[in-house]
Amino acid sequence: MIIYDSALKIFYSTLINDDLFFSGFSTKSQGDARSIEPIFRFFKENNVEFKKLVTLEQIHSVNVEEYTAMDNESFTKIEETDGIVTRKSNTVITARTGDCCPIIFVDKENKIIGVSHQGWRGSLKRMAQKMVERMVKMGAKVESIKVAIGPTIGECCYDVSDDRYYQFLEEFNGYSEKIFHFRNGKRHLNLALLNYLLLRDVGIDIKNIDHFPFCTKCDTKRFFSFRRDRKKEDYGEMFSFIVYS
Ligand SMILES: [Zn+2]
Repeated sequence: MIIYDSALKIFYSTLINDDLFFSGFSTKSQGDARSIEPIFRFFKENNVEFKKLVTLEQIHSVNVEEYTAMDNESFTKIEETDGIVTRKSNTVITARTGDCCPIIFVDKENKIIGVSHQGWRGSLKRMAQKMVERMVKMGAKVESIKVAIGPTIGECCYDVSDDRYYQFLEEFNGYSEKIFHFRNGKRHLNLALLNYLLLRDVGIDIKNIDHFPFCTKCDTKRFFSFRRDRKKEDYGEMFSFIVYS
């Protein structure tokens, strides 16, 4: 289940968080995660210690990087990637979103964690499956991987052009009846459900997949939304993170 922590003002998956593993999806309360200060502040204010914070450039690719560096810097930004995996402890790995779909991954037995960002481009190219495949290459077991799909624009608000619809139809013929619905004469895409199906079909047990039931565009109080706010001054992005000790 994904629940709201009213003290931390974040959402997190009860499948993932325990004494060793700490993950979550930020809200407007933490501020705009396009700069790193709000992310550092969140961990400092909540007395979560770590050695390194890792952010991603995010270029709507399906590139997945394993983070292995051994320097003493407190911060690293990885270029040209939308997914990160690591075995390293005390290393906060993050992704930013503001309607796109964030996903947090963990294999607790093998101590491998991951975070990815996927909008429609990354989802079309099966980013979620590439994350799982990369973790398995590192020694994770598919049956041990737990996943949390975070705050994403809902089907209610995500209409797509015919051109984009046909791209998805070509790639995901078997899913199209599930992930597309007509509303007011337009085709709407359920991006979170598509990612759920991708994870299920790469072998993740559905009882190990948590997903977020609300829409970033509808929930104006808690989330930034690219579609709703991109032209406004108060537009921002949320961050998704995981770290273990
Ligand atoms: Zn909505």
